[in-house]
Parts: sequence; C-alpha cells; structure tokens
Amino acid sequence: MSSNTVTKLILDFLSLSGASAFAKPFFSGVGGVLMLHHVEPSIKGNAGGFSPNSGLTITPEFLDTLLGELSDSGFEFVDLEEATKRIQSGSAKPFVAITLDDGYKDNALHAAPIFHKYKAPYTIFVAPGLIDGRATLWWEDLERIIKDNDHVVLELPSEKLAFETKTIEQKNAAYEKFMQILISDVTEIAQRKIVNITCKKYKFNAEAHRANSIMDWPELKKIAKDGLCTLGAHTIHHYAVARLSDEECKSQLKQSADEIKKQTGKQPEHFAYPYGYPSAACARDFKIAKELGFKSAVTTRHGVCYKQHADHLTALPRISVNGDFQKPRYLKAMLSGATTMLFNKGKKLNVDQ
Ligand SMILES: [Zn+2]
Repeated sequence: MSSNTVTKLILDFLSLSGASAFAKPFFSGVGGVLMLHHVEPSIKGNAGGFSPNSGLTITPEFLDTLLGELSDSGFEFVDLEEATKRIQSGSAKPFVAITLDDGYKDNALHAAPIFHKYKAPYTIFVAPGLIDGRATLWWEDLERIIKDNDHVVLELPSEKLAFETKTIEQKNAAYEKFMQILISDVTEIAQRKIVNITCKKYKFNAEAHRANSIMDWPELKKIAKDGLCTLGAHTIHHYAVARLSDEECKSQLKQSADEIKKQTGKQPEHFAYPYGYPSAACARDFKIAKELGFKSAVTTRHGVCYKQHADHLTALPRISVNGDFQKPRYLKAMLSGATTMLFNKGKKLNVDQ
C-alpha cells in the first residue's frame, strides 16, 4: 500500500466518521497556513501514471470549491501579517492564510481570479534565482527526462547510475532513487551541476522550461499590486538551507529579501524555506530567519497554528493543498487539527529540530 493510500484512508476516516469534528475543540488551533504550488486546469507531466510531482498541482475548480467551503465553514481569509498577529493574540475566529511557493505563471492566470472572487489575501514566495535563471526547476526537469526516455544515466562525481525507465514502475523507482541521492548524498551545488549535465545529455532545455513556468519581474511587480498579493522571500537559489553553512544560509535568506526589495521597492517580511521538510530546514535556520528580522517563516511541516507558535513564528507549519488529495473534506479534516496531532505524535508543536 502506498503512503498516499494510507494517508487517504486516514483522511477518509477522519472526515467521514466525524472524528475531525470531535477533535476540533481540542486541536483546531487558531488557524492554518495553506501551501499551494501550481494551479492549472490539467495536471502537468502525467505520462499515464508517471507523475511524481502531481501533488504540487491543483485545478482552479478545486481551489474555487475549497475556498467556498472554507468560507462557508467560518474560516476567515487573512494575510500572513494578520495571521502572525492572531497567533500572538490567540484570536477566537479561525483564520486561513494562503501561500504559494515559487511564483508560477499559472498562479496569476488561474489562481489570482479565484482569490479575488473570495477576497482572499495570498502570499507568493519567490526565489530571485528562479526568476532570472540562476536556478532551475530541477525536480521537474528530472521528471521530464525520465518521462521522455527509456534509459537514464545519472553521472555522479563518484559513479554513473544507470536505470531502465521504460515502464511506469521503472520510472517511479528511478525518480525516487535519483531524488534520494540528490537531496541527501551530494551538496546542493553538486546537485545542480549533476542535473544540468543530465539535462544537456538528454537535450532537455531546463532554461526554457524555467522561463515558461516562472513569472518574470514585470509580472511579479504587477501581481504584487493587485491589492491581495504579498511577495515573500524563498532564498536566491532555492536551496535546502539546512544543508548550507551558517554564512551561506544567512546570505541566501538576506539576499533574497534584498533583491525582492530592489525590484519591487517593498521589503519582504515573510519567508518560506524551500522544500521545508526537517532535513531541509531545521532549528538553526528558524533562528537565523528570526535574527534577520522576518516576521514569519513557513515550513512544509504538517499542521495547524497554535497560540504556542507565538514563540516560534519562524517555524510555522503549513497544510499542503495537495493535487493527490483534491477533496475539500480532506482539508477540513486537516484544519480540525486532528492530523497535526497524528503527524506530530501527539504534540502540537514540531519546532525543536
Ligand atoms: Zn519552492
């Protein structure tokens, strides 16, 4: 049974049995920060079942239904500024703050009109390197290469790793293995070099893919003035900051905010750790974000926000609006706080490591 199937079973149990309603008064917290990436009518890169990044894309129809149901259920849409205030004050009215990572063009095209329909503020976290080409969407590049080829070789500094990638199972196995090596066995800088070499070898134009996917500065400046959008920082190179030295980490956080200010005239006050899972963003990084003066910083650690997060505003959890779980009742079960306790082994906070 895949982990997605297990998660769906848990969410079905919580949302259909009434358990999440029972959990609500005890665990619901003060609100939740939603995390989105792509919002597109059709799921990208779905090669008849090989779609390892499908969780990162939801449809505009689902977003519309979700925001409608959350609004009807009494959640109030607020920006991160207000969310941090409510965490500190422990406000009784539950909030939902919407965040989108990376700044995809589809956010402006398909998601922004829905945010305006519900008057829902939203924050887009942008990495200047992804905007101007110093970084690439390497995880999507790798997916496309494996999708389009029956045999893929990853050239590591120490060895060549060859995989048959004819069937969906082989493609999934290769992607999983490649990702595991690239996010843990080699440095962030080596990771990018290896994927660049692989792109050249398989004639995949990573720069064109990035430029077609990510908003440029004029587009970002325009959306930042739409009355609901706030831009937040997301490092320069979209690095997993926990894998950088103290100095490199500080520089990635600070410079990304500085460059956004230079381009838009507005200092970003909120930050999102790229990837954001525990081995990509840790307690040291939460401290650095705080020292640099960010009012909040969000992870991808699962959970709702509690009053106790007031002392940990640079280690906020989020709830992924996941393309593999596009049902409003799943999100409502998560916002009840029931899944927070399950994922955190009975604890409200997950901020110490
Ligand atoms: Zn990102």
